[in-house]
Amino acid sequence: MKASEVLCTLKQRFPNEPEYHQAVSEVLGTIEEVYNEHPEFEKANLIERLCIPDRIFSFRVTWVDDKGQVRTNMGYRIQHNNAIGPYKGGIRFHSSVNLSILKFLAFEQTFKNSLTTLPMGGGKGGSDFSPRGKSNAEIMRFCQAFIMELWRHIGPDTDVPAGDIGVGGREVGYMYGMYKKLARENTGTFTGKGLEFGGSLIRPEATGYGNVYFLLQMLKTRNIDLKGKIVAVSGSGNVAQYTVEKLITMGAKVVTMSDSDGYIYDPDGIDSEKLDYIMELKNLHRGRIREYAEKYGVKYVAGARPWGEKCDIAMPSATQNEINGDDARVLLANGCLAVSEGANMPSTPEAIEEFQKAKILYAPGKAANAGGVSVSGLEMTQNAQKLSWTSEEVDQKLQNIMENIHEQCVKYGTQPDGYINYVKGANVAGFMKVAKAMMAQGIL
Ligand code: NDP
Repeated sequence: MKASEVLCTLKQRFPNEPEYHQAVSEVLGTIEEVYNEHPEFEKANLIERLCIPDRIFSFRVTWVDDKGQVRTNMGYRIQHNNAIGPYKGGIRFHSSVNLSILKFLAFEQTFKNSLTTLPMGGGKGGSDFSPRGKSNAEIMRFCQAFIMELWRHIGPDTDVPAGDIGVGGREVGYMYGMYKKLARENTGTFTGKGLEFGGSLIRPEATGYGNVYFLLQMLKTRNIDLKGKIVAVSGSGNVAQYTVEKLITMGAKVVTMSDSDGYIYDPDGIDSEKLDYIMELKNLHRGRIREYAEKYGVKYVAGARPWGEKCDIAMPSATQNEINGDDARVLLANGCLAVSEGANMPSTPEAIEEFQKAKILYAPGKAANAGGVSVSGLEMTQNAQKLSWTSEEVDQKLQNIMENIHEQCVKYGTQPDGYINYVKGANVAGFMKVAKAMMAQGIL
């Protein structure tokens, strides 16, 4: 089947999965050229096999809330592709979780993991459980119940989950604890673990730091200095927090952060002290970003995203499709010169088209946010070797990996006029490695 036909077929076979169609469409739109250069791929029906997950587990999760009521949620794990290594990808707890969202994430993860240069396949999982407003005890009971089903499908050499939206160090700890009790082994199986039980230094920071390292590489291609640049960041969770931390140390001025209720605009910039407050607010008290505006007397805009504020650089770090075509046009009109994605698929296809038409620096999440899974890969290596590297060692490896991913994007994405199409570069580089691995391993 031709690459262009695969999308039509997938839409018919898997209707009502718009995010999955969107992610597949973006990749297929950029790899057609290299695909056509390899007739053996078509003969092996490679694209269709690469787009459809190897398998999907779905299960009911039953847990008891603090009032003694018995509650149910759906749990899922998508094992998308393991041609280059064990399935690897995070777990998301959010009320919006469904198969379409997890299939898009697992598909993207396969290409991202391929780009990291580390031996990891792609997967993703999660639940429509919302951690918002839940007590610590409820979170623990839910995590344990989730793993009571999932544990039999994962393992250090088969499938290694990690965190994502709604799943941070606390949740990984509870899930891994239950996993170990059931599986009776102690070999890692989750990444993003606590430092005391096999976690890696720099893993919490990795996605945010990695995104800034990637941004620096992009800016270098145009001799632009990050120092003094005004940056709009969305989100205030793991990725956003460490993006802001690194941006501050690099001398940039971050003026926005957000959560699902709204955003804050701080014209003086969020400094280290204010960021400490946000980290405490979000990670310990589980509070709302509105409270920052109340504390520091700055603007808070409820129910909106920060893209209308003037900035030089935008770093979306909350969720999918959070920058639409209109947002993109406003960003461009305000002089935005670079967009580097911390979140997965935060820009709609229309927004991407606007950025590329304007020829600004635009990095898709699967390249720019690959630092997180890269350090997860390094955590797996440390666990296998039963040793721990220092922060400096891990940070240096992370910087090298982000540079390498940037180089691959330049190699495969540079257009005849010199413009670097990072979407094409990342997709082609990621695709070729997985495709070659699949071809070498036969029709499966
Ligand atoms: P967190 O749960 O730590 O933070 C998510 C942030 O985004 C919160 O501020 C949350 O607000 C906000 N948010 C979530 N959903 C929505 C929504 N529907 N609308 C508006 N705001 C929303 O997650 P992470 O920081 O880990 O993940 C953020 C993004 O980065 C995701 O796209 C994730 O897939 C991606 N990513 C994460 C990696 C990691 O290592 N953690 C690695 C690579 C990518 P609220 O608190 O109100 O829910």
